[in-house]
Amino acid sequence: MLHISITKTLFEDILSNTKKQLIKDATKHWKKVLLDPKIIEDKIYYEINKINKLYLSNGLGADKPAIVIECINVIQDKESNQFIFELGSILEHKNIDINKKKDELIEQLLREKQLLEESIAKDHLTQTFNRRKMDIDLEMFIKQANAKSLSAVFIDADRFKGINDNFGHNTGDRALQYLAKKLQKHATFLEGEVYRYGGEEFVILCFCPQEQLYDKLDTLRVDIKSEKILHPFKEISISVSMGVSFWKDSHSIQAFIKQADEAVYLAKSNGRDRIEFTNSL
Ligand code: GH3
Ligand code: MG
Ligand code: MG
Repeated sequence: MLHISITKTLFEDILSNTKKQLIKDATKHWKKVLLDPKIIEDKIYYEINKINKLYLSNGLGADKPAIVIECINVIQDKESNQFIFELGSILEHKNIDINKKKDELIEQLLREKQLLEESIAKDHLTQTFNRRKMDIDLEMFIKQANAKSLSAVFIDADRFKGINDNFGHNTGDRALQYLAKKLQKHATFLEGEVYRYGGEEFVILCFCPQEQLYDKLDTLRVDIKSEKILHPFKEISISVSMGVSFWKDSHSIQAFIKQADEAVYLAKSNGRDRIEFTNSL
């Protein structure tokens, strides 16, 4: 068994299974340890010795932490002039507080799980929630006690294709990010969440009292138009058309979203940059 002393970081990484390789420069020392010269027909060949286990330690003294780990393979990378030890399972622990290690590992896994859940629920470009998350949330919201004040605000950017066509897709992307930020800011006042429904379409699901909804959405509409999106040659502004439906008037989730979408069509045909409701307020 080969004894190797390694840095604390590397030791921790191998212990937590984050690193499955150990790399050593192919110095004279390592060549002597790992290579076995063979003479075949007057020529010298080098074979790599079979190493089954490694004893990896960190620090000094008799009570330094150490592990015995399976060594699956040793490869000599001639290009980088390195030896690569491919590591397998940990066979023994020495001077390691396993319970503490387990707690740290569990914490790390929970953190990673949370990050993963967040990234699965979010749209990469705008960092708003995605449609999948909207479906999950909708199922939950309609069961809540406050479901009767739930409304869906469908938001569609006006003549967005023109922004892409005139200023390029990157500017279009930035315009979507700008729009998403505005929606997120106002969603707080609306007691809601923002979801990217697809393309240049967003939905806000919110619990804002119905009598306040029009004024708050109109403030959002004006705020979206108020700032310019940076572009080297021209100042670009965007507007949106919004359609609103109320859960208390819908008989299904599908109808709820469809009604808001239909109200957007009405807003478009009535001239864009406006808000339409599925019923009169
Ligand atoms: P309207 O006012 O009728 O809604 O017109 P519009 O141009 O916004 O509607 P249309 O559906 O014709 O075009 C939507 C455009 O949005 C087309 C598509 O290329 C663009 N788009 C969708 N997703 C993205 C994206 O992620 N990035 C960029 N840059 N553009 C996108
Ligand atoms: Mg659209
Ligand atoms: Mg549009």
